[in-house]
Amino acid sequence: MAARKPLIAGNWKMFGRASDLNELTALNEAVGSVAERVETLVCPPTVYIAQSAWHARGKGMVIGAQDCSAHAADAARTGEVSAAMLADAGANYVIVGHSERRSQQSETDALVRQKAEAAIAAGLTPIVCVGETRAERDSGQVAQIIGDQVRASVPEQGANIVVAYEPVWCIGGDRTPTPAEIGEIHSLIRGVLEERFGEHASGVRILYGGAVSPKNAAEIFAVDGVDGALVGRASLKAVDFSAIILAHPAAS
Ligand code: PEP
Repeated sequence: MAARKPLIAGNWKMFGRASDLNELTALNEAVGSVAERVETLVCPPTVYIAQSAWHARGKGMVIGAQDCSAHAADAARTGEVSAAMLADAGANYVIVGHSERRSQQSETDALVRQKAEAAIAAGLTPIVCVGETRAERDSGQVAQIIGDQVRASVPEQGANIVVAYEPVWCIGGDRTPTPAEIGEIHSLIRGVLEERFGEHASGVRILYGGAVSPKNAAEIFAVDGVDGALVGRASLKAVDFSAIILAHPAAS
């Protein structure tokens, strides 16, 4: 089996302005020398994707979106942005089913799956997010919850996808699960993908997300089965995000 290339993705959420895109130029410079071994992705707000792709040019860094419409065809859908439009603007990836969208926009597993399918149809790689709340973990349901989310949110075309394990109780905070707990859930996700996709599951990268920082990145990357990270706050500044990327063992 070919080794999976680590992917470290930044999610800018609803932060930043055009003047902040210089961070991408700085990031591109800082991580360009490791681009062959570690893939760097930044997902800025949709309106900045085309400009971001320009800032990211030339050194292997790629740009993604934070969400897409579930509808593939051009249609009368005010305010929606299709995966095809994102690809046209320069995106290579799109995050779907982030816990903020699941909770704030009531997105279901079925909708997340439709969005992932629309992304694949447009030639984008979807990053499908799954994760449990603290209450779900405390009540011993974590394996069931994550297994169900992976079965229901990840589309049938298992080949060209990324799954991000993002415990909801860690996002935006300073706690992470222990390395053993992260390893346990990554192995569970890998098992569900193998049940569904057989040998094709080996190409799917599984990222960890939730409070990743320059301080804990190396410890998280050392966990068996972690193929990279999805990073929120610490992706906004090139100095922090590049420190995370360069902490990956494949970067040295
Ligand atoms: C996220 O929102 O996906 C995330 C992981 O955020 P943070 O890194 O800020 O916890």
